[in-house]
Amino acid sequence: MTALTDLDDAELEARVLAAGGRPFQARQIAAWVYRQGAADWDGCRNVPRALRDALAAELPLRGSRVVESSPATDGTEKLLLQLADGESIETVIIPDGERLTLCVSSQVGCPVGCVFCASGLDGVRRNLTRGEIVEQVLHARDRLAARGLGRPPARLTNLVVMGLGEPLLNLASLGPALARIHAPDGIGLGARRITVSTSGLPDRMLRFAELPHAYGLAVSLHAADDALRKELVPTARASVAEIVAAARTCFESHGREVTFEIVLLADVNDRTRDADALIAALRGFPCTVNLIPWNPVDRIAGLARPRPERVDAFAERLRLGGINVTVRRQRGADRDAACGQLRLRRLPQA
Ligand code: SAH
Ligand code: SF4
Repeated sequence: MTALTDLDDAELEARVLAAGGRPFQARQIAAWVYRQGAADWDGCRNVPRALRDALAAELPLRGSRVVESSPATDGTEKLLLQLADGESIETVIIPDGERLTLCVSSQVGCPVGCVFCASGLDGVRRNLTRGEIVEQVLHARDRLAARGLGRPPARLTNLVVMGLGEPLLNLASLGPALARIHAPDGIGLGARRITVSTSGLPDRMLRFAELPHAYGLAVSLHAADDALRKELVPTARASVAEIVAAARTCFESHGREVTFEIVLLADVNDRTRDADALIAALRGFPCTVNLIPWNPVDRIAGLARPRPERVDAFAERLRLGGINVTVRRQRGADRDAACGQLRLRRLPQA
């Protein structure tokens, strides 16, 4: 059954009119759901009972529910959501100083199959609907309010699309979902606080560059050498040069500095020559490289997280080559730190 979060404003208005309501009531209902965070029809308090009942019979406000929460001692909290058709996804709340960042999923699983990643181990099941993407924010706000981190509806400060899935393969849902999350009269998160991470699909990146809001882009590059990159991202078709060129177009279009992510794997892509290849590939492009020491995944053997000295040496080499570098601290380290692990543990093992 379609949930209210899957509807755009015109579709919601049509449903409200068909149930005997008036256009302004559609706007009231949207405000309850997105601004006030109402989780059920009873929460839409100034909507007449008869209209609520008529709509409730055929239109649940949300299609997903939280079935498990996995808080870590550093404040990070993973939520496992069950979708209307029984599939499950993860969304992760990451407090960091003044920031409250939410990491959302875009697909059930992932078709890209990077060799180090839990999300792609069983391929992709389907794209998320726009409502399923937006609801991750609604559930996260509920949890934050329950934890006393802000008055309801608690405010997230940032959103990254870095959970399960390749977001740019689901632009048809992601575009409207981000517009809803951004809308000042709804959830109201500024476009500059939203970042989408892609495995590097140039044609899709060019479409992303055309979205009307200036969302940020992170590109998971992992290696600047084409042959090595192909080992890590086996389904990749585009060359590193093509990916960097598309990233440049996004930078020029949105005016947002692009971040290149490198998941560092010991003795695979953390060598001096890997750093030097990156410096050469990114020369003259104002950007930041984010180094992410690999989080081990249960079902993936043969890879290791580099030692901290090795990560530092890699970062230093990039800096000497004129590149802005950040190193991601490990978050949610207690258990299931790697994206996709919580969901994998809950799936029946083949
Ligand atoms: N599919 C998109 C977004 C989701 S993955 C992408 O690949 O960009 C988000 C980030 O997490 C990517 O940079 C990815 O490389 C990284 N990642 C995936 N598995 C990881 C792991 N086990 N340890 C550390 N980073 C990981
Ligand atoms: Fe998919 Fe991103 Fe994981 Fe690669 S790293 S398998 S693109 S989720």
